[in-house]
Amino acid sequence: MPLWKKIFIALALGLVLGVVLNQTGNADIAASFKPIGDLFIRAITMLIVPLIFVSLVTGVTSLQDLATMGRLGAKTFALYLVLTAVAISIGLALSAIFKPGVGVDIGAASASNVNANASEAPTITDTLLGLVPTNPIEAFATANVLQIIVFAVLFGIAIVLAGDVAKPVKNFFDSAAEVMYRLTSIIIAFAPYGVFALMVWVAGTYGLDVLAPLAKVIGMVYLGCAIHALVVYGGLIKFAARLNPVRFFQGSVEPMLVAFTNTSSSGTLPITMMAAERNLGVSRRISSFVLPLGATINMDGTALYQGVVAVFIAQAYGVDLGTSQYVTIVLTATLASIGTAGVPGAGLIMLSLVLTSIGLPLEGVAIIAGIDRILDMARTSMNVVGDCAVTCLVARSEGELDQAAYDTPHVLRSDD
Ligand code: ASP
Repeated sequence: MPLWKKIFIALALGLVLGVVLNQTGNADIAASFKPIGDLFIRAITMLIVPLIFVSLVTGVTSLQDLATMGRLGAKTFALYLVLTAVAISIGLALSAIFKPGVGVDIGAASASNVNANASEAPTITDTLLGLVPTNPIEAFATANVLQIIVFAVLFGIAIVLAGDVAKPVKNFFDSAAEVMYRLTSIIIAFAPYGVFALMVWVAGTYGLDVLAPLAKVIGMVYLGCAIHALVVYGGLIKFAARLNPVRFFQGSVEPMLVAFTNTSSSGTLPITMMAAERNLGVSRRISSFVLPLGATINMDGTALYQGVVAVFIAQAYGVDLGTSQYVTIVLTATLASIGTAGVPGAGLIMLSLVLTSIGLPLEGVAIIAGIDRILDMARTSMNVVGDCAVTCLVARSEGELDQAAYDTPHVLRSDD
């Protein structure tokens, strides 16, 4: 049975068991499943740093020239940015049309003890300086993905420039990358168990009484994500990349489902990389560059969520937003989503930045905090699908997508 089917069944069973436990007053039993999920999350997280580093070094050493590297970077960055802005606009439009915040009881916010402090936006100089590690070992130790990317790219370029004398180093990295991919397959085999346990925990802990009052905003975020995925990504894959969109979603399903339950795009990265290569036929040199970058800076789901929620909070507080405030939200949420780490709940923290930019009360964050995990599931899935879509678009435009592999995906199997 292909892995995605196993994961899907695990997810459905987890949902049913979680709801039953919740409805029968056994939320504590549901919570006891969490360590199994955490074990899976830890195992994937273990792969991230070595996998990104070795695969990116091999990716760079197999590029023909440096100009290709620059072109790749520019294309990737532009696509990530534009798609994020589109995602927020969809979120804003949905909230403006369906008005999920009208009539919401904001009294609940003051009851919640969430620490809603405004986070400060880092300056551009700090952000740029922060890309270069002063000590690569520190970058590895703190899993600073952007710094690892910078070091890996420079290291790879140096291997190419050093020529023959660096052959053994290149061979070492080529072989280490294979080892890391093998290790990733071993851990992916446990995905169904991890997904099952996380789903039991979430469904068992969040009862309907918590979700019902905010059902409309939850609906908006899920609907927005579905529209963005199907219309924007589906459309781009079909009309820009001239590929079959159904195959695209089939090929992205494993990382999508895992991201849905572990709510971390960085924590799903190893699975996304495997899926891009095995299911979508993207070459390693493209996927090893575009995906780690995407897992760190490309957050379409998060941006969409921030759009929906900002308008929702304005409505809940009876604040009317004008055009300039909508524009401010698009700009701030695009930047905020770039600065959001691909870890659970990061988008909620960045939300304070968006709220401050248009002068909305920060207590608004507290209304959302109680259900944020449920929103995080949808937005993280979307973040990951967005990374896959951009990877396919870039690979296609560079002639680095194996169409035969794409059309007959070697769907990941747990015995790979
Ligand atoms: N959990 C999201 C991610 O990892 C980030 C967020 O909280 O929006 O992609």
